[in-house]
Amino acid sequence: MPNDALPAVLGGTPIRPQGPPAWPPDDPEIVEVLHRAARDGSWGQYHGPHSQALAESLATFHGFDHVRLCASGTVAVELALRGLKIGPGDEVILAAYDFRGNMQDVLCVGATPVLVDIRPDNWNLDVGRVEEAMTEATRAVLVSHLHGGQVDMPTLRDLSNRRGVPIIEDACQVPGARVAGRVAGSWGEVAVLSFGGSKLLSAGRGGALLTSDDGVQQRVKTYTQRGNDAYPLSELQAALLLPQLDNLGNRNRQRATAVTRVIRSLADHPALTPFALPEDSESQPGLYKLGLQYNPDACAGLSRDAFARAVRAEGVAIDPGFRSLHKSHSQRRFSTSGELVEADRADANVLVLHHPVLLESDTDLDQVGSAVERVAAHAEDIGHELGFAC
Ligand SMILES: *Cc1c(COP(=O)(O)O)cnc(C)c1O
Repeated sequence: MPNDALPAVLGGTPIRPQGPPAWPPDDPEIVEVLHRAARDGSWGQYHGPHSQALAESLATFHGFDHVRLCASGTVAVELALRGLKIGPGDEVILAAYDFRGNMQDVLCVGATPVLVDIRPDNWNLDVGRVEEAMTEATRAVLVSHLHGGQVDMPTLRDLSNRRGVPIIEDACQVPGARVAGRVAGSWGEVAVLSFGGSKLLSAGRGGALLTSDDGVQQRVKTYTQRGNDAYPLSELQAALLLPQLDNLGNRNRQRATAVTRVIRSLADHPALTPFALPEDSESQPGLYKLGLQYNPDACAGLSRDAFARAVRAEGVAIDPGFRSLHKSHSQRRFSTSGELVEADRADANVLVLHHPVLLESDTDLDQVGSAVERVAAHAEDIGHELGFAC
């Protein structure tokens, strides 16, 4: 289809009339797990072999002694904070551009979020700004790897050791990724995973906390055990995750290859700069989303949200990213350290490509670039139709 064709948002035929690929995918292994769980009755049990096998696999894979399976990644972050005895009067450092739930969890335990800026090249936490944010009250650094980018964990680990401030590493977007030679989620005192419905490892809902700190483990247990487990992951959810964990390495490799093709196809578009992915041979990106820095000036001034709407209409899953935390919360609720120049830009200009297309064919991958090209070529007309700032 020629790219001077009318964009779908202006009444043309979408590049992918079928829309983005579904997630989770139709997977015969999952069907088999469901059948087996129905036959053996494990779907209805409180405790069974699947939860135990999952916890053991996750512990071995990440190199931790203890794993607590739980209801969500958001709950796992809360439990991590409680496990580290963080509460009122304490400060937790995190990036000003991060998952909203992470800041909410810090507030939920009564502590104060201290927001620091992100790096210009990948809009992930700028580790070089963390030390100046530390005070007497700092009790943890909560750090996420986001949108294909990675945080400089060797440097953060050194800082953490030197200052005695523990790291909570949020690997919700990057299960199985490699960060400077180690599996993502193995750098901190506590790691957090999510098994939410859109995530790379999905049970619809769910999460996990990993640690080798006996005190953290004990406090999390005391907090969650109220006669029964107050934040459980079910036996059936655990059963669904086991085959996905086995396939994770292969799928991550496939995604990493696919993403280089997508990035190449976007190279001619000054409106979009992909987040810098790790390039050293010791790292492999986690690709729940591919982050894109949007430049409205290269697109006739079309707003990020209008651009995303037009690309979506072509059947390609590109959406606005998170709101930056300082832009979406009252200033009474957090403090900041230094300027938040990049987080200001990220708030207005992050776009994210959702991961399912990365397991599809080259034709599907190339449609990402085609959709972007078509929308960019008609940016002026789209702006007049949707409003430039919609
Ligand atoms: C999804 C996500 C979470 C939490 O996930 P839920 O399981 O949906 O609560 C936390 N941090 C990041 C970076 C995420 O992307």
